Amino acid sequence: MKAVLFEQFGQPPRVQNVPDPTPSAEGVVIKVEATGLCRSDWHGWMGHDPDVVLPHVPGHELAGTVLATGKQVTRWKTGDRVTVPFVGGCGHCHECHSGNHQVCEQQFQPGFTAWGSFAEYVAVDYADTNLVALPEELDFATAASLGCRFVTSFRAIVDQGRVKPGEWVAVHGCGGVGLSAIMIASAMGANVIAIDLTDEKLAFAKAMGAVATVNARDSKDVVGAVKDITKGGAHVSIDALGHPATCFNSIANLRRRGRHVQVGLMVGEHARAQVPMAQIIAHELEVYGSHGMQAFRYQDMMAMIRTDKLAPQKLVGKHISLDEAPDALMAMDRFEGLGISVITRF
Ligand SMILES: [Zn+2]
Ligand SMILES: [Zn+2]
Repeated sequence: MKAVLFEQFGQPPRVQNVPDPTPSAEGVVIKVEATGLCRSDWHGWMGHDPDVVLPHVPGHELAGTVLATGKQVTRWKTGDRVTVPFVGGCGHCHECHSGNHQVCEQQFQPGFTAWGSFAEYVAVDYADTNLVALPEELDFATAASLGCRFVTSFRAIVDQGRVKPGEWVAVHGCGGVGLSAIMIASAMGANVIAIDLTDEKLAFAKAMGAVATVNARDSKDVVGAVKDITKGGAHVSIDALGHPATCFNSIANLRRRGRHVQVGLMVGEHARAQVPMAQIIAHELEVYGSHGMQAFRYQDMMAMIRTDKLAPQKLVGKHISLDEAPDALMAMDRFEGLGISVITRF
């Protein structure tokens, strides 16, 4: 099969011919129909993720059709249209048994713990626990855009942030995670403030439902601006970028007893970012992480997509080919363009 492969961290990946994958006993092989590009792929390529073993094929936001099944797989058959969350639970450990597959101790992540979906085919383990059937009407490119940023934002807003109608939600960073969070929080009846560095991204954020924006390049005091708009601070705040400055602001702009959810990854030199701990104590703030979402939680999200309360297709930007993927991957740290780029030609 054709796959995007890199042999050294930080060295240009190339499209190469590699052996076709075979399914594990509990796994399937999926014919990839669409796969999104994500900054996590860039981090993996740069060597920031300890799970990545060389040589490596990136790609974790995928949708496709089941091509082959392992002998222990009971719920899926060849030809099924499916997607997967980027964190797959093993189904056997304590966390999985408690319903928290997103923090499984033996988690399977295509494109990180195994070769990923920048390829014609991808092997996905623990299929019965993690595969999600796609409704007829959901196209592959939109389905691929759900598996990482959209589901993580859904969990951040709905399950971790517990956003309620009428609450103020600040979203720091308007890339794929941020725009998803804005759309989901708005659909739940919250008032969303979008924060980013460019007016172009903030205009897109408004189109996704934000009721107010703060340009962090023009504003000397982002925290003060959010507190002014909300008359006292946000109830819930999301760092959707993953940077010490946005993480700090996202906690500092909360009102008393507010909830911060860290969604943007903090890796490399940012892994130990400073937080305003005195404020966390004095104002009884809550600080959460959000790491993917369990396959069984897709049901509620899919219901909101089916009824057009959520429209993830609006977040899909460019469709590209597998041959264009190496250049696009290497450019992921420049935050260019609006929306999520998806590989749909192989
Ligand atoms: Zn991703
Ligand atoms: Zn597990």
